[in-house]
Amino acid sequence: MNAHNVLSGPLRGTKRGVNAAVERTELRRAGGVEYTLTRKRVKNLNLRLAPDGSVRASAPLRASGAAVDAFVAAHAGWVQKALARQQAAEAARAALPTPTAAECLPLFEAVSERVFPRFEKVLGGKKPVLKVRDMRTRWGSCHPAKRQITLAARLALQPPQAIEYVVVHEYCHFVHPDHQAGFWALVESLLPDYKARRALLRNGR
Ligand SMILES: [Zn+2]
Repeated sequence: MNAHNVLSGPLRGTKRGVNAAVERTELRRAGGVEYTLTRKRVKNLNLRLAPDGSVRASAPLRASGAAVDAFVAAHAGWVQKALARQQAAEAARAALPTPTAAECLPLFEAVSERVFPRFEKVLGGKKPVLKVRDMRTRWGSCHPAKRQITLAARLALQPPQAIEYVVVHEYCHFVHPDHQAGFWALVESLLPDYKARRALLRNGR
């Protein structure tokens, strides 16, 4: 998470006596900004720009929608700037030439080395073969019968936490070839924050 993409502040005009035991989410609009408001057990109001460009606010359970709208409207300029900065970073990444396999492999191998011990038994003690291809529609694939993982060359341009997620994801296919609940439970047991890591991948392929 980029600290520039998070804004925090106290909430004014909080309502008392509202039934507010349950976390809940709604889509709102204020100051020309469309945002998702989640009320939860927090003290302050937090506004952040997600990696996919959406605006998310979290507020205390008893916060009134009007108070959050006022906060968002007052910081609409901040949102626009953060969005412009994110889009510029994405454009810069998209403009980078696709790395060659020779450039990617050392990076991918290093991540694979760290992940491998957790799968050593399943793989009969043999490391999987890593391949790199210029894939644009997926980040990776796994061929369990060949003990082979193929990774997209442009994955090398992604944040390290996201690269690690893709490698772990593909390793988990050695255990579960599908994307059923058991597969995701295994991913989560290895990377409890996998959803946040996966979210980093949505931009700039
Ligand atoms: Zn998969």
